[in-house]
Amino acid sequence: MAQPSSSDLGAWRESVMRFRDLVQEGDLHGLLFQHLDLCTRRAWLHLHRIDYAHLEERMRKGSVGHDLHKARDRSVEGLMGLAPDRINWEKAEVIEVKGSVGARSAVSSQTRFYALLLMAATGRKWTAANEITGGRKHLPVLIDRADIDAMNDMAERLVTLAGEPVAPPAGRKPICGSCSYRMLCGY
Ligand code: SF4
Repeated sequence: MAQPSSSDLGAWRESVMRFRDLVQEGDLHGLLFQHLDLCTRRAWLHLHRIDYAHLEERMRKGSVGHDLHKARDRSVEGLMGLAPDRINWEKAEVIEVKGSVGARSAVSSQTRFYALLLMAATGRKWTAANEITGGRKHLPVLIDRADIDAMNDMAERLVTLAGEPVAPPAGRKPICGSCSYRMLCGY
């Protein structure tokens, strides 16, 4: 396999580096992008560390299940500050593992987050995929120039939200009934 060079990012380079800078300056992490994709109000609650995960049985079980079934493998050891579930170094592919195919767009935003930071760190293009627990499905996550621009827009939005003292309003949506923030949200 040909070794990548620092110019592998080509026309993506500026946008990828901008994303890295926004993430560093805003101290953003991957899960925030998943929340924002689902709901701006939910992202604000997470940004301001307002949750009740320790009080709700379903969320506690989910957290334990995550630890038991999604244990990160050795491929991601040494990745300071990044916590994807798995990396295929040979293929330059980052993989996020989920229990179901639900919220695919939101999960893909989190996976793209890892891929873009790996691009910034290595100077080469990475691919991304979501995997259903147990390797039952391998779902490629598209990354093109428009996706990178969209991630930059999301990073800017998250930085703005972090500075807002009041949660933004949000209309009721299908996920509200199962949202882990619903008891705090009021919807
Ligand atoms: S309950 Fe609905 S509106 Fe409230 S944070 Fe969750 S998804 Fe957003």
